[in-house]
Amino acid sequence: MTGITDLCHPETVRVAASHQAEARQIAAELAAIARSGMVLPGSITERRTRCGHRSCACRADPPRLHGPYWQWTRKVAARTICRWLSPDQHHDYQAWIDNDRRLRQLLARLETLGAAALEADPRWQHKPRAAPAGTRQTSP
Ligand SMILES: [Zn+2]
Repeated sequence: MTGITDLCHPETVRVAASHQAEARQIAAELAAIARSGMVLPGSITERRTRCGHRSCACRADPPRLHGPYWQWTRKVAARTICRWLSPDQHHDYQAWIDNDRRLRQLLARLETLGAAALEADPRWQHKPRAAPAGTRQTSP
């Protein structure tokens, strides 16, 4: 016994071979990113700023703004949290942000495959039974 439950229940729902192949590719890429541990939510933004000194070049016309500075921004409990990064940190952590985006893309693709499998379920061909009392049923 492997201790791993078969989550796909192939006896009731068939997954198309092309779907399985793509899911395996997605799983391999997800695992590679997860193994790296290099995942960071949010985004890193380049900022250029003005200071408070009237005679500074940042107030000239045209202005020469200070920076660039790098800001990591993310949401925590519906609040936006920011933190300044050094140029080195920006260089290193941008790849982590990119990995997080890729994880979300891969999960979205898996969900799309799952939704397509559900839509292709041959049981949709049968006339739907009456919806349970108190519910609405949408037809495909
Ligand atoms: Zn200035």
